[in-house]
Amino acid sequence: MISRTENLLPNLLEFTLEEMQEFISSLGKEKFRAPQIMKWLYQSGSISFDDMTTLSRDFRTKLSKIARVSRPQIVKIQESKDGTKKVLLRLEDGLFIESVLIPGKNNWTICVSTQAGCAMDCKFCLTARQGFKRNLKPSEITGQLITLRKETPEGPDIKNIVMMGMGEPLANYDNVLKAINNLTCDFGMGFSNRKITVSTCGLAPQIVQLGLDICINLAVSLNAPDDEIRNKLMPVNKKYPLKVLLDACKKYPMPGRRLLTFEYILIDGVNSSLQDAKKLAALLKDQRCKLNLIIFNEYPGTLFKSPSLKTVEAFQQTLIDNHYTTMLRKSKGSDILAACGQLSGAFGI
Ligand code: SF4
Repeated sequence: MISRTENLLPNLLEFTLEEMQEFISSLGKEKFRAPQIMKWLYQSGSISFDDMTTLSRDFRTKLSKIARVSRPQIVKIQESKDGTKKVLLRLEDGLFIESVLIPGKNNWTICVSTQAGCAMDCKFCLTARQGFKRNLKPSEITGQLITLRKETPEGPDIKNIVMMGMGEPLANYDNVLKAINNLTCDFGMGFSNRKITVSTCGLAPQIVQLGLDICINLAVSLNAPDDEIRNKLMPVNKKYPLKVLLDACKKYPMPGRRLLTFEYILIDGVNSSLQDAKKLAALLKDQRCKLNLIIFNEYPGTLFKSPSLKTVEAFQQTLIDNHYTTMLRKSKGSDILAACGQLSGAFGI
């Protein structure tokens, strides 16, 4: 357990490189110690100052008295038939969050949470049912990756990061931006911004701001071809209706020649008819985008149903006929509630 006194010490995983340099300078030490410490924290995954052998013994002792290193701890790992792993993590204050490891051909993608719970209340989402608890700190966002890299066999092969776990990343804007800064910093995790995707339910002003602040992959959870359906599925649409959202998307600069992704969860009898597909094709005609279709994952207690494969194929074909790059994304881990919109932060406890 962490004592009350230790809790008051600054957690070095909250610092950006610049903040670490300021902190180190304030201790009368050379600035080049800051990248050294960042590398121990992010690349070696050290949580003990004793490990940081490029620092003098005296300096390590001093650091251990005035700072701490804390990141989420693994409580439980559950594995799906398809190899997807859902990881339950405990935060310092006792709250639980979930990360998901998704297998690819040659490497793994980690889906990280950015909030404990979520306030957005999307009607198809299990996370929404537990309500909003709090924003995750930068150390708790990057810490999911550092912990899983260090403590799971897949760790070294985690090559992609998607912020699609619990929470709405852009509702925790400053902490998410700081986390991305440390994920892409050469002395932090050293990830390319092409390997990181932020997913949003449609906070239009923050989409525009993100485009000004950073160049990173963006996925927008759309799920409806018009405001009437979207209002029913996603309360955020009442604040930022489709026109406002799509205008913000048009302003968003994707890295390189990449396309913005619209995610579309297909729900039987709600948004998956042929007419819905035609409306969607017309709605997106001015967007530089691709579409990811996801079949709704049924979970206990939901009234929504998955559409038939025939319905899904007809929907996809309509979009392809209208020249959209349209992928039918296999939702991995649905048998362990690790798929899209199925994270609750409470499995098995
Ligand atoms: S889908 Fe995403 S934004 Fe919507 S309630 Fe669930 S976690 Fe929040």
